[in-house]
Amino acid sequence: SNFVVGISGGIGSGKTTVTDLFAKYGIDVIDADVIAREVVEPGTPALEAIVAKFGESVLDQAGSLDRAKLRTLVFEDTEVKNWLNQLLHPAIREQMLLQTQQAKSAYCLLSVPLLVENKLYQQVDRVVIVDVDEQTQLQRTLLRDKTNEPQIRAIMSAQATRQQRLAVADDVIDNNGKADDLGKQVAQLHQGYLQLAKQNTI
Ligand code: ATP
Repeated sequence: SNFVVGISGGIGSGKTTVTDLFAKYGIDVIDADVIAREVVEPGTPALEAIVAKFGESVLDQAGSLDRAKLRTLVFEDTEVKNWLNQLLHPAIREQMLLQTQQAKSAYCLLSVPLLVENKLYQQVDRVVIVDVDEQTQLQRTLLRDKTNEPQIRAIMSAQATRQQRLAVADDVIDNNGKADDLGKQVAQLHQGYLQLAKQNTI
């Protein structure tokens, strides 16, 4: 089946925690973050284009893209940022489509952190949002990442708001409570998605 459930949520909302639970049911999880790294692996046309534009200095010792270096080159340069987006976005979209088509499970999950920001909710059959209040989101991300509070706040304010995400949600997973509370919600959604995927093939 090609039934695609897009899953999103802000930084540290619990997307990975939730998709790991769906994966336990044998559901294929396609991760846009992973794809974003794959499309610039050594040997890809995208990496060749980046080297052609910025020179070999964007590569590390091993010949892989030095993301920190690229970030400094792109930082606050809208023209360069647009060039990079126009290069990478089609490659990422193509891979996402390919991998969802190749999925073997009854339905698949497409995990996209910027689903709302990039309007990708239009491309999926169903949208589930992992929802958490901003305070909890901040605390959990602080606990996990070796960054500081202002940095996380900056990322949060550059992302869609909680309200914007909820506005495009067909389903919401409440992750304000304990991680133990997720299992039941995921089990219920899984059953629903199996039904929807079945209807979709008729
Ligand atoms: P990102 O997009 O930033 O990578 P994410 O949405 O994938 O994040 P996770 O990595 O799943 O989020 O969760 C963020 C952090 O919060 C992790 O350290 C995770 O273990 C923890 N966490 C997730 N859910 C809960 C919960 N209900 N209670 C406590 N901690 C949680």
